[in-house]
Amino acid sequence: MMIAYLDHHPHQQYGLVSAGESTSDETILCAIDVDDAGDVSVASRDFGGGVFSRPARFLRPSTADDVARALHLAGRSAGLTVAARGNGHCVGGQAMAAGGIVLDMRGLGPQMSLALDGAAVDVPGGVLWSEVLEWTVSNKGMAPPSWTDYLGLTVGGTLSNGGVSGQCFRYGPQVANVVEMEVVTPDGMRRLCSPSSNSDLFFAVLGGLGQFGIITRARLPLLAAPKMVRWRRVVYTDFEIFAGDAESLVTQADSSTLDYVEGFVFVNDVSDPVSGWNSVPILPDSAFDPSEFLADSSGPVLYCLELALYYDDRAADHVDEREEETLRRLRYMKGAEFSADVGYVEFLSRVAKVEAKARAGGTWETPHPWLNLFISAGDIVDFDRHVFQCILRRGIGGPMLVYPMRRSGWDDRMSVALPRSEVFYLVALLRFIAPGPGEAGEAAKAAEEQNRQILRHCRSKGYDFKVYIPRYDNEADWAAHFGGGWGSFVQRKRRYDPMAVLAPGQNIFSRAR
Ligand code: FAD
Repeated sequence: MMIAYLDHHPHQQYGLVSAGESTSDETILCAIDVDDAGDVSVASRDFGGGVFSRPARFLRPSTADDVARALHLAGRSAGLTVAARGNGHCVGGQAMAAGGIVLDMRGLGPQMSLALDGAAVDVPGGVLWSEVLEWTVSNKGMAPPSWTDYLGLTVGGTLSNGGVSGQCFRYGPQVANVVEMEVVTPDGMRRLCSPSSNSDLFFAVLGGLGQFGIITRARLPLLAAPKMVRWRRVVYTDFEIFAGDAESLVTQADSSTLDYVEGFVFVNDVSDPVSGWNSVPILPDSAFDPSEFLADSSGPVLYCLELALYYDDRAADHVDEREEETLRRLRYMKGAEFSADVGYVEFLSRVAKVEAKARAGGTWETPHPWLNLFISAGDIVDFDRHVFQCILRRGIGGPMLVYPMRRSGWDDRMSVALPRSEVFYLVALLRFIAPGPGEAGEAAKAAEEQNRQILRHCRSKGYDFKVYIPRYDNEADWAAHFGGGWGSFVQRKRRYDPMAVLAPGQNIFSRAR
């Protein structure tokens, strides 16, 4: 909408700058300053609530050409930067642009449509995954295979990071489930890319932290959407047994038995309403009291493995037999288990209920000092012993996810940095801070310090690990993060964004002047 204004005076706008010359930031900003500019305060914060950075303009492009014009103009300015903002759900200012231009990707069209062969859907880069689910299921009875737990995230935002959930072991992450993209590069060009055409750009952008171009459209493969999901949780007291079972499920030769594998750590305490025993039951009206199963020696935390099987017809799809076959091989505490049959859309939308509860309790608005790690299977038992059982033994006021996935589900040509081992775990510390006058800030600082302590521990033990959705503020840390991939990341930046106009909130490169 905003940049469409430029359509009225295209020659005048492009006439502001001539090749090889830069124009002052003020001149460029004045040229795109119209009445319906978005509220910059919205673009000055994100879900993390710990970083505040005010852009000069918050624009709402409605077409890829709008995005191209904004990038073209910023590239010709003396020092303006541009950040695409999906739904602002990163937690470290990654979608911000201090003094620059933030593009609200939620306004981007055109709407979703089926690809010609009917096996994929074309979606705008700013669409939410919840909207993709709703559209594909209701229009075609199909759906993309790979999801995130929470669906209030944009396609462009998760493709810039990875996009992982319990389907990952079977179908790979969301970045491995893209057929083609339209990307606007900082030279203002709209480029189609895929594994066979402009493939370097395609793989650079996937997990590329918004550094190489803005995703304006993505083509996502579709599978038949099941009607129902058998959703099961089982509890373990011993992490090694939990991890052994989880790894056997995600590496079994025939992965078709299960459609989803996740897990989480919870506090061995009935009185913790968020991270304690009561976080285990699937349905709200059931309670969990594991005391009859527990030995006095059981530790401060317990472990829950979460599984799902998709089906249409319970009998015809043999769901009971498939579930029985899986459970028979697992070594959880028999009796400490929960099960529910829910609709597929309800299952994928399950975190919406958590969101509603957090909004009602005020914890959706307080800071979220989250830490996500990928940790190799070889280090996860030691990590549990030192981090879950010691540092985090009292919980974090939110979920502590831990589940394995396979590296072979990713593609080494993508920008994303991963541990070296074939099986690695996502550890997600999804902290929610209780509201209270003056207290939330202090609690957030303490949580940040605990995150730093965990990172120091991982480094000192020499774990094979990477931060997922990383935050660093100097080049040395970024180089260490990418390791052997750093040289290629820098080369790609030189190739696609030599002036470092894009995604300044990641603090990787400085804008050339
Ligand atoms: P933003 O946060 O707005 O942007 C993130 C980065 O991507 C920024 O650098 C931005 O400039 C860039 N970007 C955004 N759009 C584009 C685009 N179109 N083209 C190029 N660059 C772009 N992640 C998972 O993998 N699995 C989960 O289960 C999961 N659950 C989550 C649950 C919650 C409640 C929250 C808050 C986050 C969760 N995440 C999860 C993290 C999520 O993947 C990141 O927050 C991610 O950044 C997507 O959020 P977003 O769409 O709001 O993008």
